[in-house]
Amino acid sequence: MDSYVELRSLRKEYTNGITAIQDLSLSVARGELLVLVGPSGCGKSTTLRCIAGLEDPTAGDVRIGGESVLERPPETRNIAMVFQNYALYPHKTARQNIGFGLRMTTDLSETEVRTRVEAVAETLDITTLLDQKPGSLSGGQQQRVALGRAIIRDPDVFLLDEPLSNLDATLRSQMRTEIQELQRELDVTTVYVTHDQTEAMTIGDRIAVLRDGRLQQLGAPMECYHEPANRFVAGFIGEPSMNLFECRVEADIFDGAFTYPADGALSEAAATAETRTVTLGVRPEVPALLESDDDAAEPTFSGTIDVIEPVGERSFVYITLEAGPQLVVATNGDVTVAEQATVRIEIPRTGVHLFDGTTGDALHHPSRDSGDTAPEVE
Ligand code: ADP
Repeated sequence: MDSYVELRSLRKEYTNGITAIQDLSLSVARGELLVLVGPSGCGKSTTLRCIAGLEDPTAGDVRIGGESVLERPPETRNIAMVFQNYALYPHKTARQNIGFGLRMTTDLSETEVRTRVEAVAETLDITTLLDQKPGSLSGGQQQRVALGRAIIRDPDVFLLDEPLSNLDATLRSQMRTEIQELQRELDVTTVYVTHDQTEAMTIGDRIAVLRDGRLQQLGAPMECYHEPANRFVAGFIGEPSMNLFECRVEADIFDGAFTYPADGALSEAAATAETRTVTLGVRPEVPALLESDDDAAEPTFSGTIDVIEPVGERSFVYITLEAGPQLVVATNGDVTVAEQATVRIEIPRTGVHLFDGTTGDALHHPSRDSGDTAPEVE
């Protein structure tokens, strides 16, 4: 991989004793859009600020284009950053806001600045707004101006920190697509921070999942979804979350809040757990609601429907299993079951993930191809 931005064993301790990033190593390829995703406080912004030079790492290295930039002040790194609050100058027009950085940092003539502002405005479809001030622009328009101000400098690296958080849901998904298209068009190496896993999944070429300042997994969105490296990623990526059940391994049975009979592949994987405990993971898409007289070849359970959440094409059915735990099942939107009804649910073994009950590391994932051998995790 032609790595362009590289973090090597990055560590950041703040003076208050908080270690925001620990031993973080990752590479972003030239032209790639990498998303840093994780819950609030996991170190995403700190990582971005270390790349930009706004924070000095306590240890480790930040490299851009193959060279360490630690000794280089922010303004010489040729990085453009866009924040959640846009930080536009309220008394300047959109045109002045977009051109401001160029005027300050280059000796381009007024005519050249004007030409470049207009070219950027055209790319972002805001030509008609150029003479308005931020106060009279909508959130989405302000966001475009902020993007314009960033891209006009033709940066080597684009850093976006929760750029869509202030927008409503519809605009957010529209701007998500626009940012993605813009990033492809400009072909600029981009690190994008969000706490929203849906945003990460839809926008990222790859995603880096962080927790407590540590990298949990770095991979293509679908890889993190289908083959989560550990229990945390399994629960964090995917909406609704993967169902997770703590179980003891007893011969060929996983016993916990409910009892699940294993098969050869699952037993074998469970045997590698550090202690005899595993977390069984089941995506909501996996279980099937059975008509009461259906024959089931795989383990079945009975339960009571608590709530049905229709979201259009699909419905999410929240069920309390007879044995106690709650299970979320994604069904067709036209499902005919009713709340409070008793149902039978089949949970096929071919859809089960296993995680080590002690370390949380993945032990087994369902096979993603049509063959019947499940991939083993190293
Ligand atoms: P995120 O962007 O994922 O929400 P941050 O990088 O902002 O996380 O913060 C990571 C951790 O570092 C948090 O515990 C936060 O409170 C702490 N932190 C962030 N900035 C500072 C700072 N300037 N001084 C002290 N602690 C900080």
